[in-house]
Amino acid sequence: MSTPNKSKTTKNKTNNKSIVIFSAHSDDFVIGVGGTIAFYKEKGYKVYCYVFSYGENSHPWVEGKKVQNFRSHEAFEAAKVLGCDCKFFDLKELNFTQDAKKTKLKSKLKKIIEKINPEKIFTHSSEDPHPDHQAVNDITLELYDSLKSKPQILSYSVWNPVEFKTRHPALIISIKTTFKLKMVALHKFPSQRFNAIYPLMFFIWFRAIRDGWIIKSRFAEKFYLIRKGD
Ligand SMILES: [Zn+2]
Repeated sequence: MSTPNKSKTTKNKTNNKSIVIFSAHSDDFVIGVGGTIAFYKEKGYKVYCYVFSYGENSHPWVEGKKVQNFRSHEAFEAAKVLGCDCKFFDLKELNFTQDAKKTKLKSKLKKIIEKINPEKIFTHSSEDPHPDHQAVNDITLELYDSLKSKPQILSYSVWNPVEFKTRHPALIISIKTTFKLKMVALHKFPSQRFNAIYPLMFFIWFRAIRDGWIIKSRFAEKFYLIRKGD
């Protein structure tokens, strides 16, 4: 695991509960879970984000190390806004499954999760068409099976505009007080403006309003409980 830096967390009330977010790329945790991260942080949870790759493919004309530096810097800045810790693994994009095996990622993750003992893990949806996002979903479910103490596993959306997992119960979190922070955090990714943030902005707003409407809140984020936990 590569940990060039660790984001600072904002001072807040604390309890001894925690949640974990798995994010294939540097910006996914903000796009899919940003408002909810700030929501749990406000409730005193520790929030840990694990980003599985630096996403060097986004800028193939720039030297890999430089891309790693600016993409991780952007994620740390966004994490600071939301109040979570953020760490990177160095999996190669579009090759997560093989690379996870090679780097023994699952046993590392198992140790991390057993230590943190989170209440919930948020991971990518299996319906997301991006192969790295699907791979993170697979890795999460295999990890779940290997854990003695099992957290809830919830899926979030990035590139799938709608979800069909109606057989899974939904968890809808009101982010009316944290949506602004999510937007501020999204603006910490200038390198991703054209390949992710702008193309997804409509869906970010659409989902926030649509899901908010369900619970009569201005904005919300919706997740599916794909594993119940203990
Ligand atoms: Zn992604």
